[in-house]
Amino acid sequence: MMWTGILILILLISAYLRLPLLIWSLLLAGGLVAFTLFADAAVSQLSLLWLVYAAVIIPLNFKFIRLNFISRIIYGAMKKVMPTISQTEQEALDAGDVWWEAELFSGKPDFNFIKNLPKPELSDEEQAFIDGPVEEFCKMLDDWQITHVDYDLTPEAWQFAKDNGFFSLIIPKQYGGLDYSAYCHSQIVMKIGSRSGSAGVTVMVPNSLGPGKLLMTYGTEEQKDYYLPRLAKGIDIPCFGLTGPDAGSDAGAMPDTGVVCYGSYEGKDNVLGVRMNWTKRYITLAPIATILGIAFKLSDPEHLLSDEEDRGITLALVKRETEGVEIGKRHFPANHAFMNGPIRGKDVFIPIESIIGGVDYVGKGWAMLMECLGDGRAISLPALGTAAGKMSAKYTGAYARIRQQFHTPIGHFEGVEEALTEIAGQAYIMDASRSLVTVALDSGAVPSVISAIVKLQVMERMRDVLNHSMDIHGGHGICMGPHNHLGRPYQLIPVGITVEGANILTRTMIIFGQGAMRSHPYLLKEVKAVHNEDQKQGIKDFDNAFFAHMGFIVSNIVRSFWFGLSYAKFVSTPGEQGTRYYYQQLVKMSSAFALLSDICVGVLGGSLKRREKISGRLADALSNMYIMTAVLKHYENQGSHKEDLILVKWACEDSLFNIQTALKSIMENLPVPFIGALCNFIIFPLTKPYKRPSDKLGHKLARLTLTPSETLDRLSAGVFNSDDKDNSIGRISHALSLVLKTDELQHKLRDAYKHERISSRDSDAYLEAKEKNIITDTEYTLLLEAEAAIQNAIKVDEFSFNDWKIETP
Ligand SMILES: Cc1cc2nc3c(=O)[nH]c(=O)nc-3n(C[C@H](O)[C@H](O)[C@H](O)COP(=O)(O)OP(=O)(O)OC[C@H]3O[C@@H](n4cnc5c(N)ncnc54)[C@H](O)[C@@H]3O)c2cc1C
Repeated sequence: MMWTGILILILLISAYLRLPLLIWSLLLAGGLVAFTLFADAAVSQLSLLWLVYAAVIIPLNFKFIRLNFISRIIYGAMKKVMPTISQTEQEALDAGDVWWEAELFSGKPDFNFIKNLPKPELSDEEQAFIDGPVEEFCKMLDDWQITHVDYDLTPEAWQFAKDNGFFSLIIPKQYGGLDYSAYCHSQIVMKIGSRSGSAGVTVMVPNSLGPGKLLMTYGTEEQKDYYLPRLAKGIDIPCFGLTGPDAGSDAGAMPDTGVVCYGSYEGKDNVLGVRMNWTKRYITLAPIATILGIAFKLSDPEHLLSDEEDRGITLALVKRETEGVEIGKRHFPANHAFMNGPIRGKDVFIPIESIIGGVDYVGKGWAMLMECLGDGRAISLPALGTAAGKMSAKYTGAYARIRQQFHTPIGHFEGVEEALTEIAGQAYIMDASRSLVTVALDSGAVPSVISAIVKLQVMERMRDVLNHSMDIHGGHGICMGPHNHLGRPYQLIPVGITVEGANILTRTMIIFGQGAMRSHPYLLKEVKAVHNEDQKQGIKDFDNAFFAHMGFIVSNIVRSFWFGLSYAKFVSTPGEQGTRYYYQQLVKMSSAFALLSDICVGVLGGSLKRREKISGRLADALSNMYIMTAVLKHYENQGSHKEDLILVKWACEDSLFNIQTALKSIMENLPVPFIGALCNFIIFPLTKPYKRPSDKLGHKLARLTLTPSETLDRLSAGVFNSDDKDNSIGRISHALSLVLKTDELQHKLRDAYKHERISSRDSDAYLEAKEKNIITDTEYTLLLEAEAAIQNAIKVDEFSFNDWKIETP
């Protein structure tokens, strides 16, 4: 019995430690030798054991036998069932870099990767830019004027943005750009977005995926020298047209065409070029753009460029004034006034030099777009979403403190508290998530899967946070007008959800689909081996990947089960008291995720592509593991302030619960219920270990939003603030400071009322309290001042019947 136990232990420890097959086999052989020598076993029993050992270990360790008698057969079977990868899919897969998600896919994340990442910081120049021109720009913006009166930024704001290089954040200095870091870029968009969503989008688009980025990455020297300085100075305003009426999410299916031919251009005849026809819509900045980036499918029927006729998706720059270009009217996206509209082209002729990157890049448009999508997607919308999170944490919290009902600040009611808790916790998650990805970008990596995760998760949390904020503000959030600071951000939610990869598609198709292929240690190697035209090499590669993969699965089974039993308490991880537990749970969930990913791929095979509910949940698990990492790193980056631990704890517990929900839902919905139940037993042997963050913890987060503190300052850092009593947010902070100043006095008044020394608890009793010497004259004046500030902060705008003009209530 003891010997059997020792043999099993050798097997389990080898699997846990992921020892190479040979070492594992030798250890087992050692165990068997000891068993043979010292155990009092019957010869028949020993013979059987050695026979089984030889039957399993010899074919596995002897390459010739394994290759020819095992791998060849599995390879043949796989070739029949494994779906091919289309060119478009391959280009999407190849785009960007693999980053931290590969560690999460490994089931054994190496935290040194995260530990060694630098803290995101601004240079002095960047900080000065944010404190100077960005602050000034924010003060110039009146979101109501922009979205309701002018439907545009003022000419002064446009000019200011151009003169100060707001459209050149990513353009290198040699071309006149600012060339700021990704982190700085994110901080800028966040600050502007916190003041005006329309201005935020206006600034973010030229700095995101568009002509600027594409030219920097692929442009010819002539193209860069001509366009980049013009874009940097705002002489040219760019837009990029990919989407059309028939090609939204499935942009690769665009019907837009370009035919290589000779034509006339700017007075010259017989120019080699492309005749284009396109219909694009939803194109940001299109109504005022001077230079249009267009994606289209190029064909070369006369073989003027090469022997190939269909050349594939190609990107070109078209000047606005080119004959045949039709700049459409304006769309009105969710009551926001950034420029957006359709553009059409009919028989537009452009010279061949207008193709971005020149003829070398003909047909590479899809790969170029995929490659460049990562940066912008990780910066722009996550920055806007985080702005909404931070503004909500600060101003919805403040509003919930100054707004009283039932003689109580509404933020003290448990119902409202629940919403405030979510706001604080999600804002922390959003900030952590978007900060960490900028570190990747600033190191030169473009982590395409992580950028999709950050975009998706921050946008979903923006939706949550703004819904909660709206609930807490009640009518105050609903009634639009210059004093409403919430209505427009609320209306911006669907824009963030849809743009730069619509969320449903990103969650259910992209994150796990691309993640598994790119970041799984063996999957892509197996797929590539199976599709290798050189069959001999294919079988060799397949053999290596397949057997390593099998060992990986066995290891993840052992590790998951052990972690399930032990809560991963014995795993050595970074962290301190208060955070180490979460690092350990991350190891545990990473191994469970790695195991379940393989189970899903194994059980569903190619059909996993269509089983979006399953791949969406795998994406949820992966996303929440990224979030936990980001939160733990963010806490350290911000100086590991103990007071911030409540935010870390809430965010990690929320994430763990989300991961558990996602994994359990997958297991409950696998087509073979037995496999699901078995996985559940391995991963969660102690039923459901994770719970939603407790009410007690939630209470602390909610209270955090109600009064100023250093933690709240860190949580809301980087957004636009104002103390101006007439400003939509300034009036709330002003009222809050007076409410907090008079808090003690209110206690005094409440006490006086309780003991029937004054007749009411309301403001009409202030005078009575003063006359009865319960409060002094100065205190009376302060109370009146606070009351006036509250009334000013809670008022909503009114409009005249006839001309819809604002009337001061
Ligand atoms: C304000 C705004 C600005 C924009 N700016 C630009 C721009 O500057 N340039 C540009 O080229 N485009 C731009 N777009 C277009 C944007 O990228 C598209 O709106 C987006 O790609 C979705 O396309 P669609 O709106 O046609 O939705 P559809 O493609 O019709 O999708 C509708 C829904 O179906 C879901 N869906 C579709 N296919 C799948 C699938 N296989 N699995 C799961 N779910 C799926 C989507 O997630 C979405 O929820 C902008 C859009 C808006 C609204």
